[in-house]
Amino acid sequence: MKILPDRCTACGKCVANCPLECVALVDRVAVISPECVDCRVCLRVCPEGAVAEELPADDPRITCGSCPVACRVPEGGTGACQRYANRGGTLVRNAPLRTFEDVRQVVGPDWEPAVREPLVTGIGAGTTYPDCRPAPVIVRGVSQGVDVVTVVTETPLSYSSVKVKIDTDANLGQEGAAVLAGGEKIGHVTTEEYGSKILSLGGANTLTGPHGFRAARVMTALANRERVKLRVEGGSRLEVQAGHAPVVDGKPIGVMRVGCGSATLGLFAPLLLEAADEVVVLDSHLTGLLTEHAAGRYLGATPSGVRLRFRKSTPGRYFGDHGSGWGGTSIQDPREVFAPDGLENVRPGSRILVTETTGQSSAYFRVGAGGALHPEEPTEGVRRAVGAISETCQESRVSVLYCGGTGGSARAGVTRHPIRLTRAVHARKARLTVGGAPAFLLPGGGINFMVDVERVLRGAFSWVPTPALVIPVEYTMRWEDYEAMGGHLEAARPLEEALARRRP
Ligand code: SF4
Ligand code: SF4
Ligand code: SF4
Repeated sequence: MKILPDRCTACGKCVANCPLECVALVDRVAVISPECVDCRVCLRVCPEGAVAEELPADDPRITCGSCPVACRVPEGGTGACQRYANRGGTLVRNAPLRTFEDVRQVVGPDWEPAVREPLVTGIGAGTTYPDCRPAPVIVRGVSQGVDVVTVVTETPLSYSSVKVKIDTDANLGQEGAAVLAGGEKIGHVTTEEYGSKILSLGGANTLTGPHGFRAARVMTALANRERVKLRVEGGSRLEVQAGHAPVVDGKPIGVMRVGCGSATLGLFAPLLLEAADEVVVLDSHLTGLLTEHAAGRYLGATPSGVRLRFRKSTPGRYFGDHGSGWGGTSIQDPREVFAPDGLENVRPGSRILVTETTGQSSAYFRVGAGGALHPEEPTEGVRRAVGAISETCQESRVSVLYCGGTGGSARAGVTRHPIRLTRAVHARKARLTVGGAPAFLLPGGGINFMVDVERVLRGAFSWVPTPALVIPVEYTMRWEDYEAMGGHLEAARPLEEALARRRP
């Protein structure tokens, strides 16, 4: 890597971003040190185009192939991630392989089997209000030979939200865009994760705001696995229901992508290389170019000379854009993916395959004189490769996670010392379940948790117009731990008695 001093404005972006601190400003010009590994970070962040690639002749550095960055690691140095080191001309992982014993203490204890399942669930238990009274159902029984107690309540939680995971590469809208129900803002689009888009709905501020009642109603419906219509501001119209395929702008989404464009190349490179001389896998996150990609190089692919219109991340991997076209990009016609002069250096007669990461749409071309693209019928090899991609895709579905915070007043129904319950939950002594379903506990203060609503009995969620969602909560622990936390021992009933009191 080299600096073009005439262009450098000494802005310092390369200095701030170099992962190995190999750049410094000297007399108001960036200077790169010999420890540089050609990771291209400085080249990508430089706003002035003042960084250029330069490969020295007889380069003694070792190229790392453990990720697409392909660092060239000098003797005694490490790659950009500092995980691989060049020691005496050999590239090694510079940390030992750890056993579970090595990390057991850091991972911490799990719940013992006797307290993993509640004796009864909170569904149908009723609510304690005000919370200073004992919880409505406190049951003592024996589980796996251990004296245990389960304390249950149907608790109203205004610290409530719902995360909706929608498996699709379709563009739903900008991250941060408002999510509307009946024209009212009840949440927003958050991150994109793997092959899914995530919505966050509700939360304390939305529930207590002007659209709180609508938010509570929609969240409850989603948690009870009902179908809900939503709209993303500036984006798509959605129909979502936990466990079912999403409908985006009236179109049911059949499959989710197998991975990004780069991952698809990594998975199917041998088949793709048999099918064509060059393959472009179109994807809004990373669009892949086979012969330049590590997978193509590994298989000995001949560089095709194709250039794409997208911005390069690392060799063979290009950042896509977002739109209503192929692979969730703005590209409506696969020919648009090539740079304006991106086919000029391609050998006439070359075969180019362009496909989505789902394999749902694909096109096959032969390059003519001057880089003209002529569509051709897909060959058997093309069909086999695209078929392998689509067969590997999973069905799209909507998943709903209910997220709540139950570290508040409801703890008083469990114990006279609420902080002891919080500590017992985090110490894995008291198990929190929601309608019997395991809850994932968020670390840190309070009792914040997430639960997969498909593991909770349909209809178990409701709402009260404070507004708050009402959810069944159970805490199960050893009787001796319940005694130690100052639990409401006098309110505990034997399991048989509690069950006998149930109304039919
Ligand atoms: S980012 Fe570019 S312009 Fe800024 S200091 Fe580095 S080389 Fe110079
Ligand atoms: S290529 Fe990477 S290691 Fe080298 S100077 Fe630039 S950012 Fe630093
Ligand atoms: S794994 Fe680390 S050292 Fe290897 S190429 Fe990637 S960033 Fe560089």
